[in-house]
Amino acid sequence: MHEDCIFCRIVGGQAPAAVVYQDELTFAFLDHNPVTRGHALVIPRAHLEDIYALDDGNAAALMVTGAKVARAAKAALDCDGLNFWMANERLAGQVVFHAHLHVIPRYPDDGFGLRRWAFGERPGHAELAELAQTIAARLEAPVNG
Ligand code: AMP
Ligand code: ZN
Repeated sequence: MHEDCIFCRIVGGQAPAAVVYQDELTFAFLDHNPVTRGHALVIPRAHLEDIYALDDGNAAALMVTGAKVARAAKAALDCDGLNFWMANERLAGQVVFHAHLHVIPRYPDDGFGLRRWAFGERPGHAELAELAQTIAARLEAPVNG
């Protein structure tokens, strides 16, 4: 629990939130400045800053709760699609430094979208294979099985 973290304060009941779901490891509530109707945030209860700080248990729990909230949103709202979005580090748009998965229901012409996806020429297979190896070499063993 970090006193100066707004999401810790929400988990601790010291700040208001429209709660959708909670369990032992996770907590889900509506974003107070929604991108679309029903925009929710799923967070670990523990103060873990970003995706890099999540052990396997918290990472799995975050996705399980995300899927649960997504199914509920699909059933409850008249949405035609749904995106998950997560910002890690300031450069990627993270503003609140307590990890959170955005669950964003989508509606026709809602205006939400990534401005750019591809960044130029497609790399060749050899380049991709080498890059995959570089990343794979840094994979860690599961933090908690
Ligand atoms: P980001 O760190 O950029 O992924 O976004 C943080 C998100 O948290 C924004 O969409 C904010 O609207 C949302 N947010 C910040 N404070 C609160 C709060 N007290 N209750 C609900 N949502 C919040
Ligand atoms: Zn926190």
